[in-house]
Amino acid sequence: MTAIDTSRPHPARMYDWYLGGKDNYPVDEAMGRQMLALDPRVPVMARVNRAFMHRATRWLARQGVRQFLDIGTGIPTEPNLHQVAQETASDARVVYCDNDPIVLAHAAALLRGTDEGATEYLQADVRDPAAIVEGARKVLDFGRPVALSLIALLHFVPDEDGAHELVGRLLSELPSGSYLVMSHATADFTPEESKAATEKLRAAGVTLALRSRADFTRFYAGLELVEPGVEVPHRWHPELGEAVPGQDDGVIPGYGAVGRKP
Ligand code: SAH
Repeated sequence: MTAIDTSRPHPARMYDWYLGGKDNYPVDEAMGRQMLALDPRVPVMARVNRAFMHRATRWLARQGVRQFLDIGTGIPTEPNLHQVAQETASDARVVYCDNDPIVLAHAAALLRGTDEGATEYLQADVRDPAAIVEGARKVLDFGRPVALSLIALLHFVPDEDGAHELVGRLLSELPSGSYLVMSHATADFTPEESKAATEKLRAAGVTLALRSRADFTRFYAGLELVEPGVEVPHRWHPELGEAVPGQDDGVIPGYGAVGRKP
């Protein structure tokens, strides 16, 4: 297992800090505070993103989806995806995947599910889809629909690393009736703050690849977008609950969407 690097900030640990978690280091908090100085609403964004994941997962489970592949899982935060899915469908099977050793260190919390369902954790990088598919096949039946979720992940994967192609490769392994769920940060609404945040993170060794609405929508090429299409995450099926105090259209510089593979 790769050692936990506490000399520079890591996205999973900064995100944990925004959510009020304890699995972060002084270097993560220091960078988190710099992000807050640029935009004090970052913790609201993190909670809105989490709430989007819950609603999308609930929606999918109610559509009959029973298999989930979640890449860029993050440090466990209750409820985790499998808990939301298994609340609706106790037989739901979930494979989690992240490349940060701190997530692996806390993976036990991701593996406590129902007796009827199954959960598994893979330490892998989204830039290695073949390894992810091979590991996931041990728990998921790729002959039946799978919901692939990449929540707040791909803004850490630049175009040079082939972000769109990677999603295409993963989707090509999944049968008709599978889904893609994504949320993603954008500079569309807050260009100045986004530029400053990107520069600060880059100086600390973290790549942030913010994408426009058009570039985000391109991840869904060949899929049928589920209503309401590409939206700011809190406007995606708000009837499924979990409004976050402080959320509004001016606050959330990101997009969320769910698409179905025909
Ligand atoms: N999906 C969770 C966590 C988002 S934070 C949520 O929305 O609540 C982004 C996560 O992506 C972090 O846990 C980080 O470690 C992970 N990540 C970043 N780059 C990755 C990569 N190349 N491969 C796999 N995971 C990655």
